[in-house]
Amino acid sequence: MTWQERSDRTLVRDLKDRDGATVTLLGRLVARRDMGGVAFADLLDRTGLVQLVLPGGMATPALQSVIRCSGVVAMNERAPRGVEVQVAELDVLSAPQVDLPFNPESLPSPCTEGGPKLETLLDHREVSLRSTKYLAVVRIASEILAAADDFLRYRDFVEVKTPKLVSGGTEGGAGLFEVKYFERSAFLAQSPQLYKQTMASTPLERVFEVGPVFRAEKHATGRHLNEFTGIDVEIAYPNDLRHLLSLIEGLVRAMGARLAERCQGELDMLGTKLPVLGEAFPVIDLDTAKEIATGQRPTRSNPAEHLSAAEEQTICEWALREHGSEGCFVTEWPTRFRPFYSLPCAGNRKKSETFDLLLRGLEMSSGGLRQHDAAALEEAIGRQGLDPAAMEPYLRVFRTGCPPHGGFGLGLERLVQKFLDLPNVRCGALFPRDRNRLAP
Ligand code: ATP
Ligand code: MG
Repeated sequence: MTWQERSDRTLVRDLKDRDGATVTLLGRLVARRDMGGVAFADLLDRTGLVQLVLPGGMATPALQSVIRCSGVVAMNERAPRGVEVQVAELDVLSAPQVDLPFNPESLPSPCTEGGPKLETLLDHREVSLRSTKYLAVVRIASEILAAADDFLRYRDFVEVKTPKLVSGGTEGGAGLFEVKYFERSAFLAQSPQLYKQTMASTPLERVFEVGPVFRAEKHATGRHLNEFTGIDVEIAYPNDLRHLLSLIEGLVRAMGARLAERCQGELDMLGTKLPVLGEAFPVIDLDTAKEIATGQRPTRSNPAEHLSAAEEQTICEWALREHGSEGCFVTEWPTRFRPFYSLPCAGNRKKSETFDLLLRGLEMSSGGLRQHDAAALEEAIGRQGLDPAAMEPYLRVFRTGCPPHGGFGLGLERLVQKFLDLPNVRCGALFPRDRNRLAP
């Protein structure tokens, strides 16, 4: 038997085909109006919002009540979506028992200034996440994931899930959360890096993972969470770094295209526009990026190491101005400042075959070709102050024969933030985790 909608319920999106019919609706009462002595209310279900006309003498339930009502469908040009339901019967299934901290339906778009403070919205996630505008953000995140899924599976990628309880770190600088693991300590994975490399070394060749990533960094910025959703991708046998760049550029374009195709309603409701992706993301090396950002070319005695948040911003402004694209690749990062598994450039081992992808002024992804020579890898592990003995299981992947490979990791919340031009990465998360927030 196929699963179907319960038979006694009509969804709001189907009302337009039911003129004159008696229907039953289930949903939440999100607005109330009194006009010329007639009481109106708006009911919201998962498919949309409809105006209810309440009969004289019926008390209007409190805002945010969950109701079931029956009545006759009537076309009315002046009603939102041109249809309303003239209610005959109404049951309140659940009414709020406390005052709401704010009315979710009157919240401004999270893309704009104003309204309650972000902290208040996050403290009361159970209410802010009921708002149509905030749910538009949730739907957008879901479509971004669906786009990634389609794009990658179509290209032979297999989705994997790897452990989040691990025995050590992989990303050097990024801090580790320690957890009790029976009689010893374990850590929450700060990236699926070693596992995805292991899987790409098998004859699967192409894997991706969507999963939680934990970083115990004491940041207090608008771009860092302590738990985020990583979209991690790894392939065997890339031609070269450019091959990875075209893969991730295709992936980000597929996300943008899906949002443009399916989410115009959400984008309009949020009052925002997708980033301009242009014909091609420009590719510049780190020295050029620094020169664009600061006006000064790095020198041998004063080499470039990182890009600051402000520099990333300036580079994306330059990319839009000069190349008509808010996306920009930065390559040729110093090997010393990249993770130990990065492949040094053949011609200059101080530089690495790695990249960052910037979008609308923010790093969306880091990636690159990986070192697959066991001895070189062991040396790199030692050079970065890590313990090769602790990495034995990982090193065996290389000692037993490993294809050349490469990949990248993207952060879902940052993608949501930048596709929607949200002011803070927390706005792109459902229940953000930061230094001061562990609930709700
Ligand atoms: P940043 O330099 O911005 O701190 P990172 O270089 O430490 O980031 P990576 O280790 O390269 O981050 O992680 C890959 C991707 O995961 C990043 O490009 C970003 O999209 C996302 N990401 C990393 N750290 C965070 C974080 N703390 N909060 C949200 N997303 C993150
Ligand atoms: Mg990075």
